[in-house]
Amino acid sequence: MKRIKIVNLLKNPVDSLIGTTITIKGWVRTRRDSKNVVFIAVNDGSIIHSIQVVADTSSFEEALLKEITTGCSLRVTGNLTESPAQGQPVEIQAKEIEIYGKAPSDSYPLQKKGHTLEFLREIAHLRPRTNTFGAIFRIRHAMAFAVHQYFNDHGFYYLHTPIITGSDAEGAGAMFRVSTLDAINPPLTPEGKVDYTQDFFGKETNLTVSGQLEGELGALALGEIYTFGPTFRAENSNTPRHLAEFWMIEPEMAFYDIIDNMDLAEDFLKSLVSYALKHCSDDLEFLQKMYDKELIARLEGVINNPFVRLPYTKAVEILLNSGRDFEFPVFWGADLQSEHERYLVEQHFNCPVILTDYPKEIKAFYMKQNADGKTVRAMDVLFPRIGEIIGGSQREEDYDLLVKRIHELEIPEKDVWWYLETRKFGSVPHSGFGLGFERLILFVSGMSNIRDVIPFPRTPNNAEF
Ligand code: ATP
Ligand code: MN
Repeated sequence: MKRIKIVNLLKNPVDSLIGTTITIKGWVRTRRDSKNVVFIAVNDGSIIHSIQVVADTSSFEEALLKEITTGCSLRVTGNLTESPAQGQPVEIQAKEIEIYGKAPSDSYPLQKKGHTLEFLREIAHLRPRTNTFGAIFRIRHAMAFAVHQYFNDHGFYYLHTPIITGSDAEGAGAMFRVSTLDAINPPLTPEGKVDYTQDFFGKETNLTVSGQLEGELGALALGEIYTFGPTFRAENSNTPRHLAEFWMIEPEMAFYDIIDNMDLAEDFLKSLVSYALKHCSDDLEFLQKMYDKELIARLEGVINNPFVRLPYTKAVEILLNSGRDFEFPVFWGADLQSEHERYLVEQHFNCPVILTDYPKEIKAFYMKQNADGKTVRAMDVLFPRIGEIIGGSQREEDYDLLVKRIHELEIPEKDVWWYLETRKFGSVPHSGFGLGFERLILFVSGMSNIRDVIPFPRTPNNAEF
């Protein structure tokens, strides 16, 4: 008999199925015994809720019933009936139960409810089976889908940029080397350095920290493109907002100035959050109940208010006048820390903030230089609880200014010659930004640690699963 997913029994109208025999398959969440019946809550991952299976002790062998414990997997065929119990429309009166895999109660780690998130990180191979991680990963899926849908609807092309890169010019962070050379006895140059000309690609290569530079090449031909892929940063920042491997969404748009760029970022984020509220309500309600009482109100707040747009210089003034004793000092030229970003968003404005026109010294070489000679047309979007969720800018399209900046920063021209050529031939004003996918999921799910919104987090000393 064909399996019916539990979401189709609990979410959609099932009047025509009531009184008929159906089959479900899934994992046992809980088992409760009363006098002549066993109540089994079964979940199949299709929805946060489990369906109640009622098994008459007289209809099943005792040996079989004994093996039905939390975590075991089974097939149930039975009669779908309206449920007398509160909070569930239907239940199943079991006629047949087949156990696929046992989960002995003396060794199955997810025996009880209420494990800490820290403990669950240590069993990342099993944590998808908890209600919490089921909810998070369904939301993660929905958000990835919404990203593609948004861009497709707006005429953007999905461009696949390389994961292995020969340029380390992005300057976005330390990189992971990719090499097939013998790590213990690498070939050496006469000067005693590792000879990368003998490596797989004939040069030093690394895992990418961003698809932006290649993304720009696409935008300068196709108009509007986006990338959505994994990026890698070997920074040793053990924070709740940094991963060594994370997913980034990077749109790049020809003919967009920084205002167009901000408009797109704001509309994009609002549209993603709306999508979550519309399509993930069960999971969001669960996470709100368990972890974050203000979650849904916060998501609605982002949709319903315009983002504040503020130059960096003004932000520094506000921070200096705040009377706050920040851990990191504030001065013009300082790279703002998460505590500063969150003060602006959560205390001062109480809504998302887009900061613009940062000092050029703390931003990348490719950002468009302002006429003041000091600032660049950067835009960072700051969110409540997260801090920076998007970093972007209008890109420098002027060949001479870009080359000058590259020389100032001592970036070898031979590393970026292909990037510079786009400014030599048919250059146009253009812009783009990068949205950290896990930071988005952190915000939408209300979780507090980025390790809990990616199935298999990569952080310093952690690559087990
Ligand atoms: P931060 O200052 O928070 O370390 P960044 O300025 O180095 O971030 P960008 O290079 O601007 O980050 O990357 C664009 C976006 O990617 C950021 O706005 C953020 O959402 C996300 N991001 C950056 N680094 C990480 C990381 N290590 N883990 C997860 N997401 C990240
Ligand atoms: Mn940034």
